[in-house]
Amino acid sequence: MNILVLNCGSSSLKYQLINMDDESVLAKGLVERIGIEGSRLTHKPSGKDVYTEQRDMPDHNVAVKAVLNVLIDEKYGVIKDASEIAAIGHRVLHGGKYYSDSIAVNEDVKRVIRECFDLGPLHNPANLIGIEACEAAMPEMPNVAVFDTAFGGSMEPKAYLYAIPREYYEKYSVRRYGFHGTSHSFVSKETIKFAGLNKNNSKVIVAHLGNGASISAVVNGKCVDTSMGLTPLEGLIMGTRSGDIDPAIVEFVANKENLTIGEMINILNKKSGVYGMSNGISSDFRDLKAAMDKGDKLAIETIQAYTYRVAKYIGAYTAAMNGVDAITFTAGVGENSPYIRTMVCEYLGYLGLKIDEDINNNAKGMFDLSAEGSKVKVLVIPTNEELAIARETMQVLGL
Ligand code: ADP
Repeated sequence: MNILVLNCGSSSLKYQLINMDDESVLAKGLVERIGIEGSRLTHKPSGKDVYTEQRDMPDHNVAVKAVLNVLIDEKYGVIKDASEIAAIGHRVLHGGKYYSDSIAVNEDVKRVIRECFDLGPLHNPANLIGIEACEAAMPEMPNVAVFDTAFGGSMEPKAYLYAIPREYYEKYSVRRYGFHGTSHSFVSKETIKFAGLNKNNSKVIVAHLGNGASISAVVNGKCVDTSMGLTPLEGLIMGTRSGDIDPAIVEFVANKENLTIGEMINILNKKSGVYGMSNGISSDFRDLKAAMDKGDKLAIETIQAYTYRVAKYIGAYTAAMNGVDAITFTAGVGENSPYIRTMVCEYLGYLGLKIDEDINNNAKGMFDLSAEGSKVKVLVIPTNEELAIARETMQVLGL
């Protein structure tokens, strides 16, 4: 049985067709510059040549049709007919306070996605357009919305409420939601399996360190806290996002630099994080590592601040859960940067945590880098958000 996974951005559409019998990827690809001059489809079918198509794609309807066409193309396709797709799973950024689970799309689900436009102004409109484009192209096909905020839906008020006037929560639903939910959900489940923990008696911390970065505390499979908030700007230091700062900085710098609040938030999203801290060396950790290895002071300070922040959150979440059984690193940086894992774990000796540097430096894929006698397991588990969405889609539809 094949599930198509779609992740629509404002001008892009990423897709994967997954054969759920063995969870293999039949094809994946990307449509870029939708609605902009120079639209392009890049299609990577398993075991066949990469196919690229450059033509005007004025909207997501055209892009969805292009994807369906290439999936059934005689030469580059991987299925004979669209009827070989059982369902479509859509990544949707924000489900607001309404959804703490994935759900089959109906009119009400679309209304909620629309209601959450102001909470996810860049993503939610594109996500809805993607769903409606699929409905138009394949009216009989079931669509499932998998919300990035859903995993955080299990948090208690003490974790999700901000200490601001209650009326902003009541009137505008201002609270912590958390993001990267599909990744935290997938990786925490895999952690429980891989570490041989009892799901009903488990305390797990997942550090999703990619371009965006967030960390979650998961007790018995349920998220009890996570670092991103109303928006994905809060929490850890990220590629270009600041993570936690004193909110008064916004007004202070805006006054000095003659900037609006909107311009300041844009700077906190796009010009901050390790990129801003390093004075523009890079948002990519490969470049920062190269600079650090050459002794660049700004790169060293930046990476020290980055790992220090991760370690502080691990301490906080260990306290929140009254213990931790396993800490898992995932996403681009978490999976590929042994020195980041070492620098974080150097703070955690008080937990009785020890890592095996040989495994840390040399192992690939999914592995346990805790040393013998470590009281806490330390793992690397590659995240796979598309597979997580496909599994959720099957589960929601009872397939
Ligand atoms: P996102 O999905 O949030 O865009 P990723 O999870 O792909 O981000 O992570 C991207 C970051 O991961 C890059 O900016 C880079 O710093 C880091 N990264 C990716 N691959 C490697 C690698 N092989 N070695 C070191 N760092 C890597």
